[in-house]
Amino acid sequence: MGCGAQVETDFGLCGACWRETPFIGGTVCEACGIPLQGGADGYRIECDDCMERPRPWRRGRAALLYADRARQLVLALKHGDRPDIARPAGAWLARAARPLLAPDTLIAPVPLHWTRLLRRRYNQAALLAKSLAARTGTEICPDLLIRPRRTPMLDHAGFDRRFEILRDAIAAHPRHRQRMAGRPVLLVDDVMTSGATLSACATVCQAAGAGRVDVVALARVAKDD
Ligand SMILES: [Zn+2]
Ligand SMILES: [Zn+2]
Repeated sequence: MGCGAQVETDFGLCGACWRETPFIGGTVCEACGIPLQGGADGYRIECDDCMERPRPWRRGRAALLYADRARQLVLALKHGDRPDIARPAGAWLARAARPLLAPDTLIAPVPLHWTRLLRRRYNQAALLAKSLAARTGTEICPDLLIRPRRTPMLDHAGFDRRFEILRDAIAAHPRHRQRMAGRPVLLVDDVMTSGATLSACATVCQAAGAGRVDVVALARVAKDD
């Protein structure tokens, strides 16, 4: 998956690529999934960022740190026309999301505006969500959330501005609102940076009557990145 060498594992990486791919393990922030020092003590532990800015979801996890080989894989999935990466990534996501899944969980991807969809041909978050759902036997609703309005480029907007713009641009699909009523929803995205996009999606789900909302990303950007 990383270098083109032939491998037979489900995880799709050769030994060398595996060593260069920073999988997240051990103690993590319960809200955003970033690795933390120390061991679990049975209480909920959160990073400083999440304590400062409480997340509008309950628990969050990520499979990889956005660095080295993981960064390449995420970028290849996003821009490089490598939808095949979603298959092994589904297994990595399944491992990270295991503690978040309930029997009645509904999986939903972060939506992409359709004009971007045309340019990129696929929504990488939707491919990841499908792969995760197939791997774990969990129900999925690919268009639970939609993005009917175009948003300006948000590259230089701060967290609050991004959150507001996205919250207004993202909506629950009128046909699927009922489906999430009172149910746990697991939102899936490729990368979590500040969390503004996932925050907007989680807020929309809560407003639409979803039960507990959790999030999982393929890769988590470390703070000093
Ligand atoms: Zn390799
Ligand atoms: Zn955190």
